[in-house]
Formats: sequence, C-alpha cells, structure tokens
Amino acid sequence: MNRDKSSVNRRLEGRRALVTGASSGIGRAIALRLAHEGASVAVNYLSNPEAAEAVVKEITEAGVKGIAVQGDVSNEQQVDAMFERAVSEFAGLDILVNNAGMETEHSFLEMPLEAWRKVIDIDLTGAFLCAQRAARVMVESGAGGSIVNITSVHQIIPWGGFAHYCAAKAGLDMMSKTIALELATQKVRVNSVAPGAIATPINQHVWGSPEGLADLKRKIPTERIGQPEEIAKVVAFLCSDEASYVTGATLYVDGGMTLYPEFRHGG
Ligand code: NAD
Repeated sequence: MNRDKSSVNRRLEGRRALVTGASSGIGRAIALRLAHEGASVAVNYLSNPEAAEAVVKEITEAGVKGIAVQGDVSNEQQVDAMFERAVSEFAGLDILVNNAGMETEHSFLEMPLEAWRKVIDIDLTGAFLCAQRAARVMVESGAGGSIVNITSVHQIIPWGGFAHYCAAKAGLDMMSKTIALELATQKVRVNSVAPGAIATPINQHVWGSPEGLADLKRKIPTERIGQPEEIAKVVAFLCSDEASYVTGATLYVDGGMTLYPEFRHGG
C-alpha cells in the first residue's frame, strides 16, 4: 500500500506559497507537495533556470499556478524583488518555506572568514530576510500565514568541519521560536523542520559511496537515509490547518538520528 499517496489531500487549496531553493532536493519536493495539496507555488532558484522551470511545469500539471523566481536569498534587493513578483502574481502570500541552504567543509583552525560569512549569510540571514518580507505581507493582509524554516539535526548535533553550518542552523531554530512568539497574535505560525540525512545533491558524496552509506546507517536507528518527500509531507502538515495550534515547534524528521543511536543496546 502506498501510504504517502493515500495521505495526499487538498489541505492547501487556494493557498499561495513561496519556497526558497526549490529547484532541487528537499525544496523541489516541498514545492511539488504543496502544489499537489492545492497551493500555488513560487519556486525560488539561484542559478539553474531549467531545473526551476521543470518544477514549475510539474506544479502547473497539478492544476495550480506556478512561477519561477530567481534570487539570492542573502541579497536584500533580490529578496525584495522576488517577494514583489510572487505577491503581485498571486495577489498575496500565505506560506513561506525557508529551505535554501548550503555548506562547505573547513576545519575550525583553517576556516576562512569568507567561508563562515557565506554560510551565515545564506542559511541564517537569508531566512531572516525572507521571513521578514513574508511576515509583513501576512500581517498586513490580516489573514496571517505559516512560515516553515528548514534547519537540520546539526542545530543540536555538533559536526566537525561545519562550525558555520551548525551555528547557522541553531540560530535559525532560535529565530524561528522568537518570531513565532512575536507574531502569534497576528496569526502567523512559525515552525522549524530539522531533517536528518536526506538523499539530495547536497550530500550525494556521502550517500553515493558504500562506505558513506554504511557510516550513515550506523548513525540512523531506522538504518536508512530519508527521502526528500518525507520532509515535504511534514512541511505540508505544518502549513495546513491541521497544525492550526502548532507554533514555535521544531519537528525532527531524522529516522531517530537525534536519539543517541550508540545507546541502542544498553551496556
Ligand atoms: P540542495 O543543495 O539540493 O538544495 C539547496 C538549495 O538551496 C539549492 O537549490 C541551491 O541552489 C539553493 N541555494 C543555495 N544558496 C542559495 C542562495 N544564496 N539563494 C537561493 N537559493 C540558494 O540540498 P538539500 O539537501 O535539498 O537542502 C535543502 C535544505 O535542507 C538546506 O537548507 C539544507 O541545509 C537542509 N538540510 C538538508 C539535509 C540533507 O541531508 N540533505 C539535512 C539537514 C538539512
């Protein structure tokens, strides 16, 4: 039985969404899931218009409106232009998913300031810029909305070589909770989804090799890597009215990675 298929309903009929970094991986899966649940979706992309247009094509085939919007989330002017376009095309905005992110590996002793700044600028400041623009539209409309921030298990699991990424994701989760608090009376719900290891281009070098995959399985109690759709369906739930009383929450979607797997067998 395909349980995923049976659970897809039209919970987001008529909603208008913007998903950042949506031309690949988890963002692509989220954009498609929101569309299949009835939302119009603006597909933000950085540098691959063909991939973004392919996602838009699938969105329109689902019977809803889709547009591709180029923009670097760490650039304020580009973020402004992206929101102006999406809000004018859709006549409003109900959902923002801050998914765009990147990582690079540097030992702490060797990490250049430039590398630190780039990850903080995209993974944390980019989410701030987008959340602020989205929240302004949602508050002004009086209808509120839902913002979902894609963090990572590395908001709580330290990860050697990725001090900037861990700091950005931990910061993003705390920003999420703080703005959930600030915006609660204005009907804007804000939540985080913290993925574990999900098979996407960002970590293909790890799950693409037998050794990398074996190492991941040791760290994941369910002994398998997750799929982008398994993140997307949780995001869709948080965007829907089924989560109407959920705000300031962090949902770990990680096959149990945050459960200290090395303690599984006692001893
Ligand atoms: P991905 O590389 O496929 O997706 C990241 C997307 O962000 C890409 O489309 C990229 O073009 C876009 N992006 C990067 N910089 C951008 C910028 N400045 N402006 C706009 N877009 C930009 O990888 P993914 O795994 O799908 O990652 C999606 C999110 O999930 C990221 O925030 C990542 O940190 C998070 N995440 C992924 C995993 C995993 O195991 N794959 C685990 C935890 C968290």
